Amino acid sequence: AATPTKRYSITLLPGDGIGPEIIFVTKNVLKLAGSLEGIEFSFQEMPMGGAALDLTGVPLPEETLSAAKKADAILLGAIGGYKWDKNEKHLKPETGLLQLREGLKVFANLRPATVLPQLVDSSTLKKDVAEGVDLMVVRELTGGIYFGKPRGFGINEKGEDIGFNTEVYATHEIARKRRGQLCSVDKANVLEASMLWRKRVTAIASEYPDVELSHMYVDNAAMQLVRYPKQFDTIVTNNIFGDILSDEASMITGSIGMLPSASLGESGPGLFEPIHGSAPDIAGQDKANPLATILSAAMLLKYGLGEENAAKRIENAVLDTLNRGFRTGDIYSAGNKLVGCKEMGEEVLKSVDSPV
Ligand code: ATP
Ligand code: MG
Repeated sequence: AATPTKRYSITLLPGDGIGPEIIFVTKNVLKLAGSLEGIEFSFQEMPMGGAALDLTGVPLPEETLSAAKKADAILLGAIGGYKWDKNEKHLKPETGLLQLREGLKVFANLRPATVLPQLVDSSTLKKDVAEGVDLMVVRELTGGIYFGKPRGFGINEKGEDIGFNTEVYATHEIARKRRGQLCSVDKANVLEASMLWRKRVTAIASEYPDVELSHMYVDNAAMQLVRYPKQFDTIVTNNIFGDILSDEASMITGSIGMLPSASLGESGPGLFEPIHGSAPDIAGQDKANPLATILSAAMLLKYGLGEENAAKRIENAVLDTLNRGFRTGDIYSAGNKLVGCKEMGEEVLKSVDSPV
């Protein structure tokens, strides 16, 4: 290995369910890929989610948040499980995740949806539509209708029960490192908040002449995503539309165990995590697919630390491992080699070590 020149501290939040298994495997991959690029990591493991509730009584202990804020990047496994599902809101693992995002002020959520050539058959779309899909949904994460006030329940003039929410939008800058095509998704023909969104996106785009900007209404975008997803490179949209479109995009790839995500702020450390949950049904059985988390570590290197070479090493190692036929249960098809979480991790390590 090259002599370490760069040092980064990473806060690991294994969390619940399959979280600890996938984080263990990913930590080793990150360590090796880093060392081959002259990077040395110091890892700090902190409790979060249900694990933290059991240990400290809260889903996001202060020590965990302050460690995360001081780190160069944060890698989260998954949180939640049946055990805590009936807890009051402030004692739910998921509340800890919201508090973490707020505490870190991460406002942009990046979710790539890539159909890998080796896994075209797991897509829900026809082969010719799915092949070659490589897109990214950028979702605004901390604003919009999920947080806007006023909100609540009431009674209308006819005496009927109503629920109401408000969409309020401030403005942000958007950064990207992809193919230079940006599609902004809104509902500017109906919603005032969308009209402001479109105005701001257009204004900001003028500072990026290398980026080709287009606009699409959300209803059309939902349709186009299943009709011809290859037309998209980067999609940028608000919180609620992004929530829906990123789930839709994830089904194009068909394999929840393969999908990473990143949440970034203006400055400060980014938060990186697989999009899947804690999968309590398979926790502790060495069945989880660690690739979504391993690919999240690649995003950590690329978008969190700017270490694109190390990121590429991990991405290539994942492709190489799939090429060599290794599959966890969720992506298995006949003719391949069925492996568990640990063994998949070991195979990825081999591929990082000696790329083909
Ligand atoms: P969330 O926690 O976000 O609400 P959820 O509880 O609906 O999500 P997951 O925990 O993601 O869902 O699990 C959904 C299904 O996908 C489960 O059957 C789970 O076993 C499976 N699954 C999720 N992640 C993985 C993985 N990494 N490898 C294999 N299977 C997985
Ligand atoms: Mg869950």
